[in-house]
Amino acid sequence: MRLDVVSIFPEYLAALDLSLVGKAAKSGLLDVRVHDLREWTYDRHRTVDDTPYGGGAGMVMKPEPWGEALDAVAPADGPSQPRLIVPTPAGRPFTQELAYELAAEPWLAFACGRYEGIDARVAAHAAERMRVDEVSIGDYVLNGGEVAVLVIVEAVARLLPGVIGNPESLSEESHSGDGLLEYPVYTKPPTWRGHAVPDVLLSGNHGLVAQWRHHESVRRTAERRPDLLAAWGAAVADKDDAVS
Ligand code: SAM
Repeated sequence: MRLDVVSIFPEYLAALDLSLVGKAAKSGLLDVRVHDLREWTYDRHRTVDDTPYGGGAGMVMKPEPWGEALDAVAPADGPSQPRLIVPTPAGRPFTQELAYELAAEPWLAFACGRYEGIDARVAAHAAERMRVDEVSIGDYVLNGGEVAVLVIVEAVARLLPGVIGNPESLSEESHSGDGLLEYPVYTKPPTWRGHAVPDVLLSGNHGLVAQWRHHESVRRTAERRPDLLAAWGAAVADKDDAVS
């Protein structure tokens, strides 16, 4: 998968060289290219922002550098186009489902906003030749899109075949499979600072372990995310209806 990230702080994306994403890049599973938006500015101050039409606080990212950057990353007459992700708190929520959808794309490009965001015509113009998704990583406001891109890339990259050592670990996770949160996990020693691992996990009885894990998943989901539990309950009821 090819990933292009355009930002005024390319150094922020250095984290893409680390851990599993970095390894995936080194092994050729990912082709990561980070670009400095200011390469497409021509004044002494390398200006990328201007005051908002209509007035108000803050600055808006100018369309010209963005238009040129996207033309350079994905020439309009190129053989293919990326799917462009524009992080914004006003976007569609980023979910595990969307991560799976993006993991199926051969090429993703990311436009990191700063200030009050990017002139809206940039996304509208790009959408004339590529799929554009404005995506929010949560209901809070960051200073820039770089951290959002790190979140999205990490969630997407770990779904690519070969990135995670044991692909089975993906299917039992929170937000995957049945939609419940994952059960609590433990490792050695059996007792640590007065806290013991639940006996059932030491029993060697796989049936009982599976039962305990499911029960803990439901308990945790009910406690922390009743919205997810309701969706799970509705899905189970639908399945039961289909069987009977
Ligand atoms: N004025 C914008 C608004 O109220 O919707 C917020 C702009 S924010 C200060 C600057 C940039 O940070 C955005 O253009 C976007 O790239 C990024 N950003 C901030 N919060 C985000 C979030 N929750 N999800 C994704 N990107 C976010």
